[in-house]
Amino acid sequence: MTFATLGLIEPLLRALEALGYQTPTPVQAQAIPAVLAGRDLMAAAQTGTGKTAGFAVPLLQLLTMEGPKVTANSVRALILCPTRELAEQVHASVAQYAEHLPLTTYAVYGGVSINPQMMKLRKGVDILVATPGRLIDLFRQNALKLNQLQTLVLDEADRMLDLGFSEELANIYRMLPKKRQTLLFSATFSDDIRLLAGQMLNDPLSIEVSPRNVAANTVKQWVVPVDKKRKAELFVHLMRKGKWKQVLVFAKTRNGVDALVDKLQGLGINADGIHGDKPQATRQRALDRFKASDVQILVATDVAARGLDIEDLPMVVNFDLPIVAEDYIHRIGRTGRAGNTGEAISLVCADEVNMLSAIEMLTRQTLTRKMEQDFEPEHRVPDTDASGQVVKKPKKPKKPKTSGGGGKRNLGKWVESGEVAAEPSIKPVRKVPVFNTGPRKKK
Ligand code: AMP
Repeated sequence: MTFATLGLIEPLLRALEALGYQTPTPVQAQAIPAVLAGRDLMAAAQTGTGKTAGFAVPLLQLLTMEGPKVTANSVRALILCPTRELAEQVHASVAQYAEHLPLTTYAVYGGVSINPQMMKLRKGVDILVATPGRLIDLFRQNALKLNQLQTLVLDEADRMLDLGFSEELANIYRMLPKKRQTLLFSATFSDDIRLLAGQMLNDPLSIEVSPRNVAANTVKQWVVPVDKKRKAELFVHLMRKGKWKQVLVFAKTRNGVDALVDKLQGLGINADGIHGDKPQATRQRALDRFKASDVQILVATDVAARGLDIEDLPMVVNFDLPIVAEDYIHRIGRTGRAGNTGEAISLVCADEVNMLSAIEMLTRQTLTRKMEQDFEPEHRVPDTDASGQVVKKPKKPKKPKTSGGGGKRNLGKWVESGEVAAEPSIKPVRKVPVFNTGPRKKK
């Protein structure tokens, strides 16, 4: 199959060829004809599958072939993204695909001045990429009208709900024209996403390109058990031993990012960090330097790393496991892209056993454990498996009392090896308000 056989017009084929896209990826092969036919879509596709071109390319074609010229302060297509980084990245891709088309594109997001964005919108924009909060601000300040909107794309919809944007999405939903095409992309399909889809989509075509919630199989994944206090030391040891070149490292908290970066820099290692407390410009600079290989180790929180598109990233390290198991899939999706192989290593301490168990259950695999010599943990990480159960270590039987007399005889109690812990493992619960209800939860 080629892009030409999918019915794409020549200026788009030329742009794709210049980018080196030879054959459509599975999500593109399914999404492009459906979007061109005007269908609503509900697509389960994780980052790295080529989903951006899957919606953007046919969308550009429809906007070129159909519909009136964009009027002042209007947009003809809106792509909603959860984070600034993803909005910028999606916009960069859209602009590349649109290179030979007479269409205007722009991206708006919070954390930067709104005035230049208002100015830019004055003439109208064919395709606007936006984060939900800033879109609403622009709408309320009359800088933006949505009555010319033909197509709405919700990109990484699960992430938008995870970040607490359900109320904003409900508000945006009320601002949209009833007659429109809606395309929803999500790595995972929770009940909340299905509810959102039920409200926003009209007779959607469902597309699923990889088995649901299964991590990319081009990524070699393993776990190194370690005590919490020795994680940084182990990281440096593994890095030196494996001669790691470029590594994206995930830490759970902003403080965790800063502490690890300080430690690495203190050892003369070329490291930088990104998290939500850092100004946008600083984050972008760190990211650009990492992409240019000027920074060797980039430490990030999940939110800050969202939407990073770094080609051929060989390795991802989970310094901490994510609280939400699905984030594990997003994290390791940064490596093993577009057919390349990658490695994802998780440094796991005893406290994280329930998170490990939840990840194994979600990805339907038991992650291989590799003990590192001299780093064997004092606090053992209990065994886990893909059934989502944490297996307690067999207890030693108490010796039955044999001394005579009338005392009770304690026969001891064996706990079979493999017996399941009494308490069920904690499954991560999405901390999101159900769409259209409740106040926004700030994280
Ligand atoms: P995405 O899942 O949209 O973030 O895309 C992942 C990466 O794959 C990006 O770097 C794209 O430029 C690249 N890509 C998308 N479609 C194709 C294709 N058909 N052939 C080669 N690379 C592609």
